Amino acid sequence: MADQTYQPTRVAVVGAGNVGATFAYSLLLSGLASEIVLIDSNQAKAEGEAMDLNHAMPLTQPTRIWAGGYQDCAGAAITVIAAGVAQQPGESRLSLVNSNISVFRKIIPEIVRYNPTGLLLIATNPVDILTYASWKLSGVPANRVIGSGTVLDTARFRYLLSLKAGVDPRSVHAFIIGEHGDSEVPVWSLANIAGMTLRDFCETNGKDFSPEMLKNIYQETRDAAAQIIHRKGATYYAVASGLLRIAEAILRDQGTVLSVSTLIENYYDIQDVYLSLPCVVGRKGVEHFLRLDLDPEESRDLQKSAGILKGLIEQLTL
Ligand code: NAD
Repeated sequence: MADQTYQPTRVAVVGAGNVGATFAYSLLLSGLASEIVLIDSNQAKAEGEAMDLNHAMPLTQPTRIWAGGYQDCAGAAITVIAAGVAQQPGESRLSLVNSNISVFRKIIPEIVRYNPTGLLLIATNPVDILTYASWKLSGVPANRVIGSGTVLDTARFRYLLSLKAGVDPRSVHAFIIGEHGDSEVPVWSLANIAGMTLRDFCETNGKDFSPEMLKNIYQETRDAAAQIIHRKGATYYAVASGLLRIAEAILRDQGTVLSVSTLIENYYDIQDVYLSLPCVVGRKGVEHFLRLDLDPEESRDLQKSAGILKGLIEQLTL
């Protein structure tokens, strides 16, 4: 007789394009989920991705993978949303807002109809605006509606800093906060390696810590997506790895500090906006965000970033 108490770990992926399919592949390799359902308005695309992933299964992890409908979101621990349009070369993330909001107006009610208790993890851009919209459209508590935010930008930042510092990027503790986009903010004042400020580390190890170096690293981080899109048309490996890291923190209740996009209230006069700050992420979603003690320039830049996002949110009727 089947075990009546067994609850498979289901992850639903809405939008089986570059980002959604690459995330599904990384999730298959990880073995974290026992079921992965792919949902896309292009049914053939979802079916083709499911077939291709299933053929990897004997070489990877036993996982049930299929192309389904919104009813299959039922019981999913996490529904990852990467549906919608992506940036074209030269286009900003914010310009996608109208097209992708109309996609979300259709898909969020469908997901919540079948799964009112799971977590929503949003990747579609502009991710901060669409995560705020998902929170409003779903009626799900804010801690369970999470944007991938600047997890990707923070990874890019740590990678670039690690090249300068000559250490493993996982040993670099530094965050990009604010919008996942052009107004994102590097937190130089708190960047450290083993608790040594980045400045001290660089000075004692003979590494460059000039204002030009800092400016170049920030610009390279901020403009990375545009540079990649110019060369290969889309970005997906690093964002899929970021989504996987967030999913792992949730499914294994790790309490990992990740710069996801979350609802911000009462922080440097910022209210009622989704943006990224380091957050404790576990089974309940975002447990809380960390109220970093920023320097005056950083807090001003964060307020500016919040203002840009808020301006866009105010134009939406949600
Ligand atoms: P893509 O075009 O390859 O895939 C999008 C998929 O969404 C397509 O398969 C399409 O059929 C599907 N889709 C469109 N409308 C839909 C609907 N109403 N219902 C269900 N499915 C629908 O695009 P991509 O490169 O995978 O990018 C997806 C999104 O992720 C974009 O908005 C992109 O900007 C964003 N993105 C975010 C990050 C991040 O860090 N958050 C990084 C890269 C890309």
